[in-house]
Amino acid sequence: MTVNPEHILADLIRLNTVNPPGNENRVAGYLRDLFNSVGISSEIIESETNRANFIAKLGSGSKRLLFLSHSDVVPAGDGWDFDPFSGEIKNGVVYGRGALDCKGLMAAQVHAALRLAGEGVSLNGTLIFAATADEEKGGAFGVKYLMENCPEKIRADFAVNEGGEEPLIINGQMIYFIQVGEKGTAWSTLRSRGKSCHGSIPTLGENAVVKMVRALNALADYKAEIKLIPEVSLLIEELMRIKGVKEPLTEDNVDRLLNCIEEDEGFRETLRAMTRMTVSPNVIEGGSKTNVVPESCSAEVDIRILPGQDQEYVLLELQRYLGNEIEIEANNYAAPTFSTAQSSYYRLIESVTKEVAGPDINCLPHISTGATDSRFLRNAGIPAYGIGHMARGFESEARNTVHGKNERIDVASLHLKSEFLVKLAKKYLS
Ligand SMILES: [Zn+2]
Repeated sequence: MTVNPEHILADLIRLNTVNPPGNENRVAGYLRDLFNSVGISSEIIESETNRANFIAKLGSGSKRLLFLSHSDVVPAGDGWDFDPFSGEIKNGVVYGRGALDCKGLMAAQVHAALRLAGEGVSLNGTLIFAATADEEKGGAFGVKYLMENCPEKIRADFAVNEGGEEPLIINGQMIYFIQVGEKGTAWSTLRSRGKSCHGSIPTLGENAVVKMVRALNALADYKAEIKLIPEVSLLIEELMRIKGVKEPLTEDNVDRLLNCIEEDEGFRETLRAMTRMTVSPNVIEGGSKTNVVPESCSAEVDIRILPGQDQEYVLLELQRYLGNEIEIEANNYAAPTFSTAQSSYYRLIESVTKEVAGPDINCLPHISTGATDSRFLRNAGIPAYGIGHMARGFESEARNTVHGKNERIDVASLHLKSEFLVKLAKKYLS
């Protein structure tokens, strides 16, 4: 029988669940057999043919803890140095698509559940294990489907999911992160109207492309209002303390303080995005022919909002910069979601993290700039926390392989995740 998280992960990687089309039934069938072999009953809920969600329960009782992960992965793409679906284990590293997102966490959650069952731990409550479909394409066949059709199956007091940043070392101090929220999306289409005429006599018309260019230039100067939610303030203040920066954090100096984070540019800019709405015009379309003055032009803008901001706020902000020459149409709106760090669940996760990673580590909350399935749980009132716990000495460059090439995770980190989950379940359900 497969007993180590690395072997479970290798098996999971070899089950190709690239979404689309997903084929998450491959993972569900594998998990059913594995859980069966240790006497844990489970069920598979298909939202559509081959789009399977796997749910298993340990123990019984009113306290409920959910271990959530998703079984689909994004396409591998080209340029890998190894077969993305080999699941090879070499020199303490497991290689392949999904190693970090999210089959590594899944393997640790499976391993933790098998360990709890194997040790015969009697739980004063229910541990729910859910491996769900379709996270990478919006969750319609996965958690969204479950929450709409059978929410009681995964309803819990709180959930542990993906979404936490991997640890970071600053000034020799190791920092672990717990994700407490996710920014929302408020994608918008901008449209300018003009009057068409022959390009040789442009003064007869009104050029919609020129109008749009003016509007986008104004938007390029957009100065987002700084909004420091308490968890993000705490995060930045603690990072500054570790860096030895004495200046107290304010909305006015946040950008200057963040510039002190020289260890990791990606992390620094993620932090910056945690303090404000971001606006990025990414697609522009207008005109049809060199000799025709265009009568319309459109631009697609990626807008990400913080907990506490909404669609109305976005519209007012855009109007402030664009004036009324530009039509603004909201599309693809998803509200930000948030679970407070001022909860006993958060504190439990924090204390167990210190227990497994060492008392000298720091544990800090953060919010993500993108979304995971946690949003469906939070929207249904279930607090969800994201972890990206890794072992000391993990290869920090590997974090950039999520959705990229050469995805991999070290074996020690898989064991640390599993250890964390076992202890968390024992503590909460004791
Ligand atoms: Zn993921």
